[in-house]
Amino acid sequence: MHERSLIQSLLRQVEQIVAAEGGGQVAEIRVQVGDLSGVEPLLFQMAFDDMVTAVFSSECQLVLEMVPVTAVCSDCEHQFEIVDFQFRCPACQTGSVQVIQGDKVKLISVTINSNHSIEGVAS
Ligand SMILES: [Zn+2]
Repeated sequence: MHERSLIQSLLRQVEQIVAAEGGGQVAEIRVQVGDLSGVEPLLFQMAFDDMVTAVFSSECQLVLEMVPVTAVCSDCEHQFEIVDFQFRCPACQTGSVQVIQGDKVKLISVTINSNHSIEGVAS
C-alpha cells in the first residue's frame, strides 16, 4: 500500500517532467531509496511493474539505487553513516543527530528515448 502510493506520486512527477520536455517515450526512471524510507525494494518494483503500463510503455525501466542512512551530529557536526539504527555520534557520543540522507524516496533522473537523460530533478 505504502509502495503503491509512492509509485503513484512518482509516476505523476515523471509525467510532468516528460510533458515539460515536450513528450516522448520514457526509457528509464532512476530512484534513490533510503534505508530508512521503509520501502521494500521488491514490493516497490512489483508495484511499479503493475502500475507503469497505465501511464508509460512497459519498456520503461525502474532503477533503484539504495542509499545508506547518513546523519550529522548537532553538537560537533561530524557526518557519519548510521548502521543498525545506532543514532549516536561516533565522534562525541551524543544522541543529538539529524538524518540528512537515506530517509526518503527520491526521483533522481528520467531518461526519455534512451539517450535523453534529465538529471537533478529531485524536489
Ligand atoms: Zn558529535
